[in-house]
Amino acid sequence: MAKLTEHTFAVPEEVEPGILRLTLPLPTGPRHVHCYLLEGDDGYLLVDTGLGLMETPWEDILARLDRPVTRIFITHMHPDHVGGAEAAAEATNAPVVQGRLDYAQCERVWGSDDWPEHIADWFLRNGVPADVAEELIESGHVFADFVRFAWNPALVEAGDDVDGWRVHATPGHADGHLVLQRGDVLIAGDTLLTPITPAIGLYPQSRPDPLGDYLDSLQQVGALAPRISYGGHGDPVTSPAERCREIAEHHDERLARTERALGAEPRSGFEVSHDLFGRALPPIQRRFAVAEALSHLERLVALGRAERREDDRNVAYTARSSGGRAF
Ligand SMILES: [Zn+2]
Repeated sequence: MAKLTEHTFAVPEEVEPGILRLTLPLPTGPRHVHCYLLEGDDGYLLVDTGLGLMETPWEDILARLDRPVTRIFITHMHPDHVGGAEAAAEATNAPVVQGRLDYAQCERVWGSDDWPEHIADWFLRNGVPADVAEELIESGHVFADFVRFAWNPALVEAGDDVDGWRVHATPGHADGHLVLQRGDVLIAGDTLLTPITPAIGLYPQSRPDPLGDYLDSLQQVGALAPRISYGGHGDPVTSPAERCREIAEHHDERLARTERALGAEPRSGFEVSHDLFGRALPPIQRRFAVAEALSHLERLVALGRAERREDDRNVAYTARSSGGRAF
């Protein structure tokens, strides 16, 4: 894997004329998230906000800028992007802009107290043992503490314009994920990353085939043919169309591995996640591993390369049956 460029935290850095990158720390995962400050006529458009409760030094950050932040745009409702929205809005007095679908999911997941229990039920259905599901509830509550999203933002959709940037919908990593494009520059959120690949997971009350959505989004981004794409983590992507193809191939390989994990005996998303990601994972990572296994299983079902077996209690998958067995 390529070595990641070093990041300076909480000091805006110019990555090209009119575009500043602000990198904030994360306690887990890639350990950092990039926000962007896009220069407009009367101020900056801030894209993404880091986690809440991280005491982001907004005053110091704003003091380093030559103009105010006049608008805040959220690419998607994951904690490291939307979690700091309330604090950023308070510090800047700027309105928050978020995708319509993305905000609906944001409110449902982070604005309700029962989501962790709800998602744990769903994991039980997908074969996660009760003790592991219990741990998933706890890790879910921990995440929720870091999310302080902004209520009632201005809602936008694909095709809208935000401060001269065109909004495109790129579902996959999140159902309501939006990216911004102006000329040959893309601000991609977590749709296009390097050297890591974005997690593509299936979740309850979400679109049914997120990997199918994501592969379409990669095609769409490739067709936009940006010169450069700035993402939420890792390095700028300097050959976006090529990176889109690489990531699509990565998922083709993972789909083939997922298919090989299936046979005549039904297997749950939890079981298949062991084949794909190994057995030794802490609860938070198991959560992503199961969701990722399920997104690949559902893609295989959509492609006619696997079958879903569902009853009142469980969801499991088999290889596609060649005979006429009735279930
Ligand atoms: Zn992210």
